Amino acid sequence: LHPDHRRPIRELPDELVSQIAAGEVVERPASVVRELVDNALDAGARQVTVRLLAGGVRLVSVEDDGQGIPREELPIALRRHATSKIGSLSDLESVATMGFRGEALAAIASVSELSIASRTEGQSSAFLLDARSGELRPAARATGTTVEVKELFFSTPARRKFLKTDATELAHCIEAVRRHALARPDVGFAIWHEGKLAEQWRAATPDQRLADVLGDDFLEQSVAVEHVHGPLQVRGRAGVPDVARSRADQQFAYVNGRYVRDKVLTHAARSAYEDVLHGQRQPVYALYVDIDPTRVDVNVHPTKIEVRFRDSREVHQAVRRALEAALAAPRAGQAAEAGA
Ligand code: ADP
Ligand code: MG
Repeated sequence: LHPDHRRPIRELPDELVSQIAAGEVVERPASVVRELVDNALDAGARQVTVRLLAGGVRLVSVEDDGQGIPREELPIALRRHATSKIGSLSDLESVATMGFRGEALAAIASVSELSIASRTEGQSSAFLLDARSGELRPAARATGTTVEVKELFFSTPARRKFLKTDATELAHCIEAVRRHALARPDVGFAIWHEGKLAEQWRAATPDQRLADVLGDDFLEQSVAVEHVHGPLQVRGRAGVPDVARSRADQQFAYVNGRYVRDKVLTHAARSAYEDVLHGQRQPVYALYVDIDPTRVDVNVHPTKIEVRFRDSREVHQAVRRALEAALAAPRAGQAAEAGA
Protein backbone atom coordinates (compact mmCIF):
# COMPACT_ATOMS: atom_id res chain seq x y z
CA LEU A 1 0.00 0.00 0.00
CA HIS A 2 1.45 3.36 -1.06
CA PRO A 3 1.65 5.80 1.88
CA ASP A 4 -0.40 8.33 -0.09
CA HIS A 5 -3.18 5.79 -0.23
CA ARG A 6 -3.41 5.36 3.48
CA ARG A 7 -6.79 6.34 4.82
CA PRO A 8 -7.07 8.22 8.09
CA ILE A 9 -8.27 6.24 11.06
CA ARG A 10 -12.00 6.71 11.47
CA GLU A 11 -14.74 5.12 13.49
CA LEU A 12 -16.93 2.96 11.29
CA PRO A 13 -20.53 4.02 10.84
CA ASP A 14 -22.96 2.21 13.16
CA GLU A 15 -24.69 0.30 10.39
CA LEU A 16 -21.40 -1.12 9.12
CA VAL A 17 -20.31 -2.07 12.66
CA SER A 18 -23.56 -4.00 13.03
CA GLN A 19 -23.11 -5.72 9.69
CA ILE A 20 -19.59 -6.78 10.63
CA ALA A 21 -20.82 -8.05 14.00
CA ALA A 22 -23.69 -9.83 12.26
CA GLY A 23 -21.15 -11.94 10.40
CA GLU A 24 -20.20 -13.58 13.68
CA VAL A 25 -23.70 -14.30 14.88
CA VAL A 26 -25.80 -14.78 11.77
CA GLU A 27 -24.50 -17.38 9.39
CA ARG A 28 -27.79 -18.69 8.02
CA PRO A 29 -31.52 -18.77 8.81
CA ALA A 30 -30.92 -21.37 11.54
CA SER A 31 -28.77 -18.83 13.44
CA VAL A 32 -31.74 -16.44 13.41
CA VAL A 33 -34.02 -19.22 14.66
CA ARG A 34 -31.60 -20.05 17.46
CA GLU A 35 -31.26 -16.44 18.65
CA LEU A 36 -35.00 -15.72 18.50
CA VAL A 37 -35.93 -18.93 20.32
CA ASP A 38 -33.28 -18.13 22.96
CA ASN A 39 -35.02 -14.79 23.48
CA ALA A 40 -38.45 -16.40 23.69
CA LEU A 41 -37.22 -18.83 26.36
CA ASP A 42 -35.48 -16.04 28.27
CA ALA A 43 -38.85 -14.24 28.29
CA GLY A 44 -40.48 -17.22 30.01
CA ALA A 45 -42.43 -18.54 27.02
CA ARG A 46 -44.51 -21.72 27.47
CA GLN A 47 -45.19 -22.05 23.75
CA VAL A 48 -42.87 -21.08 20.88
CA THR A 49 -44.05 -21.13 17.27
CA VAL A 50 -41.57 -20.83 14.41
CA ARG A 51 -42.83 -20.02 10.93
CA LEU A 52 -40.55 -20.27 7.91
CA LEU A 53 -40.70 -19.51 4.22
CA ALA A 54 -38.12 -20.83 1.76
CA GLY A 55 -36.07 -22.59 4.43
CA GLY A 56 -36.12 -19.40 6.50
CA VAL A 57 -34.43 -17.23 3.87
CA ARG A 58 -37.60 -15.34 2.96
CA LEU A 59 -39.08 -15.43 6.45
CA VAL A 60 -38.22 -16.53 9.96
CA SER A 61 -40.98 -15.61 12.38
CA VAL A 62 -40.82 -16.61 16.04
CA GLU A 63 -43.89 -16.08 18.18
CA ASP A 64 -43.92 -16.55 21.94
CA ASP A 65 -46.26 -16.09 24.89
CA GLY A 66 -43.54 -14.71 27.14
CA GLN A 67 -43.52 -11.52 29.16
CA GLY A 68 -43.24 -9.15 26.20
CA ILE A 69 -41.37 -5.87 25.78
CA PRO A 70 -42.91 -2.58 26.93
CA ARG A 71 -43.67 -0.10 24.14
CA GLU A 72 -41.01 2.41 25.22
CA GLU A 73 -38.30 -0.26 25.24
CA LEU A 74 -38.96 -1.62 21.75
CA PRO A 75 -36.56 0.75 19.96
CA ILE A 76 -33.87 0.08 22.58
CA ALA A 77 -34.14 -3.69 22.06
CA LEU A 78 -32.81 -3.20 18.53
CA ARG A 79 -29.74 -1.25 19.58
CA ARG A 80 -26.33 -2.86 19.81
CA HIS A 81 -25.22 -3.98 23.28
CA ALA A 82 -28.70 -3.30 24.66
CA THR A 83 -29.94 -6.01 26.99
CA SER A 84 -32.26 -6.46 29.96
CA LYS A 85 -30.36 -9.55 31.10
CA ILE A 86 -27.18 -8.26 32.72
CA GLY A 87 -26.18 -4.97 34.23
CA SER A 88 -22.79 -5.63 35.73
CA LEU A 89 -19.71 -7.82 35.55
CA SER A 90 -20.91 -9.90 38.48
CA ASP A 91 -24.21 -10.55 36.64
CA LEU A 92 -22.15 -11.76 33.70
CA GLU A 93 -20.21 -14.16 35.90
CA SER A 94 -23.33 -15.95 37.05
CA VAL A 95 -25.53 -15.44 34.01
CA ALA A 96 -28.49 -17.82 33.88
CA THR A 97 -30.20 -16.58 30.71
CA MET A 98 -29.47 -17.77 27.17
CA GLY A 99 -28.72 -14.22 26.02
CA PHE A 100 -26.70 -11.46 27.67
CA ARG A 101 -24.68 -9.78 24.90
CA GLY A 102 -27.51 -7.63 23.57
CA GLU A 103 -26.32 -8.23 20.04
CA ALA A 104 -28.71 -10.59 18.31
CA LEU A 105 -31.59 -8.30 17.37
CA ALA A 106 -29.26 -5.50 16.23
CA ALA A 107 -27.16 -7.92 14.20
CA ILE A 108 -30.13 -9.62 12.56
CA ALA A 109 -31.82 -6.28 11.82
CA SER A 110 -28.70 -5.09 10.00
CA VAL A 111 -28.88 -7.94 7.47
CA SER A 112 -32.65 -8.37 7.04
CA GLU A 113 -36.00 -6.63 7.21
CA LEU A 114 -36.93 -7.06 10.85
CA SER A 115 -40.07 -6.17 12.73
CA ILE A 116 -40.99 -6.85 16.30
CA ALA A 117 -44.50 -6.91 17.74
CA SER A 118 -44.92 -7.21 21.46
CA ARG A 119 -47.33 -6.78 24.31
CA THR A 120 -46.71 -6.95 28.03
CA GLU A 121 -49.34 -8.10 30.48
CA GLY A 122 -50.29 -4.63 31.69
CA GLN A 123 -50.61 -3.04 28.24
CA SER A 124 -54.02 -2.58 26.63
CA SER A 125 -52.58 -3.04 23.14
CA ALA A 126 -49.56 -4.51 21.40
CA PHE A 127 -47.06 -2.39 19.49
CA LEU A 128 -45.18 -3.14 16.33
CA LEU A 129 -41.80 -1.67 15.50
CA ASP A 130 -40.40 -1.75 12.00
CA ALA A 131 -36.61 -1.73 12.27
CA ARG A 132 -35.88 -0.10 8.91
CA SER A 133 -38.35 2.79 9.06
CA GLY A 134 -38.36 3.10 12.84
CA GLU A 135 -42.15 3.32 12.67
CA LEU A 136 -43.89 2.25 15.89
CA ARG A 137 -47.65 1.62 15.76
CA PRO A 138 -50.34 -0.20 17.71
CA ALA A 139 -51.02 -3.78 16.71
CA ALA A 140 -53.26 -6.62 17.85
CA ARG A 141 -51.92 -9.65 19.71
CA ALA A 142 -52.01 -11.36 23.09
CA THR A 143 -49.23 -10.97 25.67
CA GLY A 144 -45.91 -12.04 24.19
CA THR A 145 -43.64 -11.23 21.30
CA THR A 146 -43.36 -11.99 17.60
CA VAL A 147 -40.18 -11.19 15.74
CA GLU A 148 -40.33 -11.38 11.96
CA VAL A 149 -37.16 -11.55 9.92
CA LYS A 150 -37.62 -11.22 6.17
CA GLU A 151 -35.21 -11.48 3.26
CA LEU A 152 -32.11 -12.48 5.18
CA PHE A 153 -28.90 -11.11 3.62
CA PHE A 154 -30.88 -9.15 0.97
CA SER A 155 -28.40 -6.28 1.35
CA THR A 156 -25.32 -8.53 1.52
CA PRO A 157 -25.47 -10.67 -1.66
CA ALA A 158 -22.01 -12.12 -1.00
CA ARG A 159 -23.40 -13.74 2.13
CA ARG A 160 -26.62 -14.78 0.53
CA LYS A 161 -24.65 -16.78 -2.04
CA PHE A 162 -23.37 -19.07 0.70
CA LEU A 163 -26.84 -20.29 1.55
CA LYS A 164 -27.72 -23.82 0.51
CA THR A 165 -30.99 -25.13 -0.87
CA ASP A 166 -34.20 -24.33 0.99
CA ALA A 167 -34.43 -27.97 2.07
CA THR A 168 -30.95 -27.83 3.64
CA GLU A 169 -31.62 -24.50 5.36
CA LEU A 170 -34.93 -25.87 6.65
CA ALA A 171 -33.15 -28.91 8.08
CA HIS A 172 -30.72 -26.63 9.93
CA CYS A 173 -33.61 -24.55 11.28
CA ILE A 174 -35.37 -27.66 12.56
CA GLU A 175 -32.13 -28.86 14.14
CA ALA A 176 -31.81 -25.52 15.96
CA VAL A 177 -35.28 -25.95 17.47
CA ARG A 178 -34.63 -29.61 18.25
CA ARG A 179 -31.66 -28.54 20.41
CA HIS A 180 -33.91 -26.18 22.34
CA ALA A 181 -36.65 -28.79 22.57
CA LEU A 182 -34.30 -31.23 24.31
CA ALA A 183 -33.27 -28.54 26.78
CA ARG A 184 -36.80 -27.44 27.63
CA PRO A 185 -39.33 -30.29 27.70
CA ASP A 186 -41.69 -28.06 29.70
CA VAL A 187 -42.10 -25.74 26.69
CA GLY A 188 -44.17 -26.52 23.59
CA PHE A 189 -42.58 -25.96 20.18
CA ALA A 190 -44.06 -25.92 16.69
CA ILE A 191 -42.35 -25.34 13.35
CA TRP A 192 -44.30 -24.42 10.24
CA HIS A 193 -42.76 -24.35 6.79
CA GLU A 194 -44.62 -22.84 3.84
CA GLY A 195 -47.85 -23.02 5.83
CA LYS A 196 -47.49 -26.68 6.75
CA LEU A 197 -46.67 -28.08 10.17
CA ALA A 198 -43.14 -29.49 9.91
CA GLU A 199 -42.53 -30.50 13.55
CA GLN A 200 -44.38 -30.20 16.80
CA TRP A 201 -43.29 -31.04 20.32
CA ARG A 202 -45.88 -30.56 23.01
CA ALA A 203 -44.86 -29.75 26.58
CA ALA A 204 -43.93 -33.07 28.20
CA THR A 205 -41.90 -34.79 30.87
CA PRO A 206 -38.15 -34.93 30.19
CA ASP A 207 -38.30 -38.62 29.20
CA GLN A 208 -41.32 -38.10 26.96
CA ARG A 209 -39.59 -35.20 25.22
CA LEU A 210 -36.54 -37.39 24.59
CA ALA A 211 -38.78 -39.99 23.00
CA ASP A 212 -40.60 -37.34 20.95
CA VAL A 213 -37.38 -35.85 19.62
CA LEU A 214 -35.05 -38.86 19.37
CA GLY A 215 -37.61 -41.50 18.49
CA ASP A 216 -40.02 -43.72 20.43
CA ASP A 217 -37.40 -46.45 20.73
CA PHE A 218 -34.83 -44.25 22.36
CA LEU A 219 -36.02 -44.79 25.94
CA GLU A 220 -35.82 -48.57 25.57
CA GLN A 221 -32.49 -48.35 23.82
CA SER A 222 -30.81 -46.07 26.33
CA VAL A 223 -29.80 -45.99 29.97
CA ALA A 224 -30.32 -43.26 32.51
CA VAL A 225 -27.28 -41.20 33.47
CA GLU A 226 -27.32 -39.75 36.94
CA HIS A 227 -24.27 -38.47 38.72
CA VAL A 228 -24.00 -35.92 41.44
CA HIS A 229 -20.53 -34.84 42.38
CA GLY A 230 -20.81 -31.96 44.81
CA PRO A 231 -21.97 -28.94 42.84
CA LEU A 232 -21.46 -30.78 39.54
CA GLN A 233 -24.34 -32.82 38.16
CA VAL A 234 -24.48 -34.97 35.07
CA ARG A 235 -27.90 -36.26 34.04
CA GLY A 236 -29.48 -37.55 30.87
CA ARG A 237 -29.73 -40.70 28.81
CA ALA A 238 -27.11 -42.58 26.87
CA GLY A 239 -27.90 -44.87 23.96
CA VAL A 240 -26.77 -48.47 24.25
CA PRO A 241 -23.95 -49.47 21.88
CA ASP A 242 -26.37 -51.22 19.47
CA VAL A 243 -27.94 -47.92 18.50
CA ALA A 244 -24.65 -46.19 17.72
CA ARG A 245 -24.63 -44.45 14.37
CA SER A 246 -22.19 -43.82 11.58
CA ARG A 247 -22.47 -40.06 12.14
CA ALA A 248 -22.23 -38.00 15.32
CA ASP A 249 -25.60 -36.39 14.60
CA GLN A 250 -27.45 -37.52 17.73
CA GLN A 251 -25.15 -36.20 20.42
CA PHE A 252 -26.69 -33.49 22.51
CA ALA A 253 -24.76 -31.89 25.34
CA TYR A 254 -26.00 -29.08 27.54
CA VAL A 255 -24.28 -26.98 30.15
CA ASN A 256 -26.67 -25.23 32.52
CA GLY A 257 -29.43 -25.64 29.96
CA ARG A 258 -27.42 -24.29 27.05
CA TYR A 259 -26.68 -26.50 24.05
CA VAL A 260 -22.92 -26.64 23.54
CA ARG A 261 -20.39 -28.22 21.26
CA ASP A 262 -17.54 -28.85 23.59
CA LYS A 263 -14.36 -30.86 23.17
CA VAL A 264 -14.13 -31.78 26.83
CA LEU A 265 -17.63 -33.24 26.88
CA THR A 266 -17.33 -34.96 23.52
CA HIS A 267 -14.03 -36.52 24.49
CA ALA A 268 -15.30 -37.63 27.88
CA ALA A 269 -18.30 -39.31 26.27
CA ARG A 270 -16.16 -40.88 23.58
CA SER A 271 -13.81 -42.39 26.16
CA ALA A 272 -16.68 -43.75 28.26
CA TYR A 273 -17.86 -45.69 25.21
CA GLU A 274 -14.35 -46.78 24.28
CA ASP A 275 -14.67 -50.36 25.51
CA VAL A 276 -18.16 -50.98 24.19
CA LEU A 277 -18.14 -49.22 20.83
CA HIS A 278 -15.93 -50.31 18.02
CA GLY A 279 -14.60 -48.67 14.91
CA GLN A 280 -15.97 -45.29 13.99
CA ARG A 281 -19.42 -45.90 15.48
CA GLN A 282 -20.86 -42.79 17.12
CA PRO A 283 -22.80 -42.98 20.37
CA VAL A 284 -26.22 -41.38 20.81
CA TYR A 285 -26.81 -39.35 23.95
CA ALA A 286 -28.46 -36.38 25.58
CA LEU A 287 -26.38 -35.16 28.49
CA TYR A 288 -27.18 -32.33 30.83
CA VAL A 289 -24.32 -30.93 32.88
CA ASP A 290 -25.28 -28.58 35.66
CA ILE A 291 -22.42 -26.72 37.23
CA ASP A 292 -21.96 -23.67 39.43
CA PRO A 293 -22.17 -20.83 36.84
CA THR A 294 -19.04 -19.21 38.25
CA ARG A 295 -17.10 -22.34 37.22
CA VAL A 296 -17.90 -22.02 33.54
CA ASP A 297 -17.38 -19.12 31.15
CA VAL A 298 -20.08 -18.84 28.50
CA ASN A 299 -18.74 -15.62 27.06
CA VAL A 300 -16.18 -17.28 24.81
CA HIS A 301 -17.84 -17.07 21.43
CA PRO A 302 -20.52 -14.73 20.00
CA THR A 303 -22.85 -17.66 19.36
CA LYS A 304 -22.22 -19.03 22.88
CA ILE A 305 -21.99 -22.55 21.50
CA GLU A 306 -18.58 -22.91 23.13
CA VAL A 307 -17.88 -22.72 26.82
CA ARG A 308 -14.75 -22.78 28.92
CA PHE A 309 -14.69 -24.72 32.17
CA ARG A 310 -12.60 -23.45 35.02
CA ASP A 311 -11.62 -27.02 35.83
CA SER A 312 -12.08 -29.07 32.70
CA ARG A 313 -10.48 -32.17 34.21
CA GLU A 314 -13.12 -32.28 36.90
CA VAL A 315 -15.88 -32.02 34.28
CA HIS A 316 -14.27 -34.60 32.02
CA GLN A 317 -13.97 -37.04 34.87
CA ALA A 318 -17.52 -36.53 36.08
CA VAL A 319 -19.01 -37.04 32.62
CA ARG A 320 -16.87 -40.03 31.87
CA ARG A 321 -17.65 -41.71 35.19
CA ALA A 322 -21.35 -40.94 34.94
CA LEU A 323 -21.53 -42.53 31.50
CA GLU A 324 -19.36 -45.51 32.38
CA ALA A 325 -21.49 -46.27 35.42
CA ALA A 326 -24.69 -45.97 33.38
CA LEU A 327 -23.40 -48.20 30.59
CA ALA A 328 -22.10 -50.83 33.00
CA ALA A 329 -25.36 -51.11 34.96
CA PRO A 330 -27.69 -53.86 33.72
CA ARG A 331 -30.55 -52.45 31.71
CA ALA A 332 -34.00 -52.58 33.28
CA GLY A 333 -35.25 -54.69 30.36
CA GLN A 334 -32.35 -57.12 30.57
CA ALA A 335 -32.72 -57.52 34.32
CA ALA A 336 -36.41 -58.34 33.87
CA GLU A 337 -35.63 -60.81 31.08
CA ALA A 338 -32.94 -62.47 33.17
CA GLY A 339 -35.36 -62.76 36.09
CA ALA A 340 -38.18 -64.18 33.94
P1 ADP B 1 -29.87 -10.43 24.56
O1 ADP B 1 -30.77 -11.63 24.37
O2 ADP B 1 -28.42 -10.82 24.59
O3 ADP B 1 -30.27 -9.58 25.72
P2 ADP B 1 -31.04 -9.52 22.05
O4 ADP B 1 -30.54 -8.57 21.02
O5 ADP B 1 -31.30 -10.91 21.63
O6 ADP B 1 -29.99 -9.49 23.26
O7 ADP B 1 -32.37 -8.91 22.70
C1 ADP B 1 -32.32 -7.60 23.28
C2 ADP B 1 -33.37 -7.45 24.37
O8 ADP B 1 -34.68 -7.45 23.79
C3 ADP B 1 -33.39 -8.57 25.38
O9 ADP B 1 -32.47 -8.34 26.44
C4 ADP B 1 -34.83 -8.55 25.88
O10 ADP B 1 -35.01 -7.60 26.89
C5 ADP B 1 -35.60 -8.08 24.65
N1 ADP B 1 -36.22 -9.20 23.92
C6 ADP B 1 -35.80 -9.76 22.76
N2 ADP B 1 -36.62 -10.74 22.37
C7 ADP B 1 -37.58 -10.84 23.29
C8 ADP B 1 -38.75 -11.67 23.46
N3 ADP B 1 -39.05 -12.64 22.58
N4 ADP B 1 -39.52 -11.46 24.56
C9 ADP B 1 -39.23 -10.49 25.46
N5 ADP B 1 -38.15 -9.67 25.35
C10 ADP B 1 -37.34 -9.84 24.29
MG1 MG C 1 -30.86 -12.76 22.65
